[in-house]
Amino acid sequence: MEIIRDPRHMQQRVTALRRQGTEIGFVPTMGFLHEGHLALFRAARRKNPILAASIFVNPIQFDRQADLETYPVDLEGDLVKAESAGVDLVFVPEHKSMYPHGFATGVEVEGLTRRWEGEYRPGHFRGVATVVTKLFLIVKPHRAYFGQKDYQQARVVQRLVRDLDMDVAIVVLPTVREPDGLALSSRNVHLTPEERRQAPILYQALCWASDQARAGEQNAQALLTGMRQMIQEKTSATIEYVALCAPGTLEPIEKIGGPAVLLLAARFAQVRLIDNHVIDIHEEGGDRASDHVDF
Ligand code: AMP
Repeated sequence: MEIIRDPRHMQQRVTALRRQGTEIGFVPTMGFLHEGHLALFRAARRKNPILAASIFVNPIQFDRQADLETYPVDLEGDLVKAESAGVDLVFVPEHKSMYPHGFATGVEVEGLTRRWEGEYRPGHFRGVATVVTKLFLIVKPHRAYFGQKDYQQARVVQRLVRDLDMDVAIVVLPTVREPDGLALSSRNVHLTPEERRQAPILYQALCWASDQARAGEQNAQALLTGMRQMIQEKTSATIEYVALCAPGTLEPIEKIGGPAVLLLAARFAQVRLIDNHVIDIHEEGGDRASDHVDF
């Protein structure tokens, strides 16, 4: 595995590969790798002759300085994991090489970013869209892999790629979870033992609502109120939002009449968690509620 720190060096390396006709799969990450990241690596590994990954805690997507400062880091461990998952090229830039003095450009995706994470984390998606654009221009992938865990982010990246005619296929893969349902996240290490015990209730609330929907409950308010009650009664977390939305636009829906996605964000003392669940009551072969959606 080659470790590359300099953006220009990375560009030269991938330009040479592309000239030979070699296809490049790419998984952008912020490091502190877990099975969710590794699942993306493995999927990309199967499909692409060259697998590139990036490890970069992107400062401009953090709306809170404290979150950036406490974001967990373990570069040595990450490199071991990346290598054993078959990564060929790992891009680990320094902040100052990504955002040199005088950096002044931002990429803004409108509409999709207005609600949910966009509302609770001002500037977050501008930071994400900007870094993803830069990373795509540096790594020049044929395919890039994202997790459904960050549902709105995946939709924003798809929109970005379409709107700016980026020649890269976006592949979105299902959320990897702990056996008790908690979605894997680098931030989970900051949960206290008691919060860790409570955290799977977020997923249980999503499953409860999708079960209700499959059983015929179409009213969003009924589903969202039930979820709120469950989370409030059984955890110390503060809910930021629970929402039922159209999967493509992420606009709220009042009544389920087709595919829908449940989104939620909740804050424990030091850790903010997000999760989601897709409901498709019209899937052929019976009702379905699942972690997976065709992006
Ligand atoms: P991060 O390092 O948190 O920025 O995540 C890097 C990529 O891994 C993003 O595309 C995430 O959506 C994805 N990811 C994070 N957690 C999970 C998970 N539990 N399951 C699947 N993908 C994930």
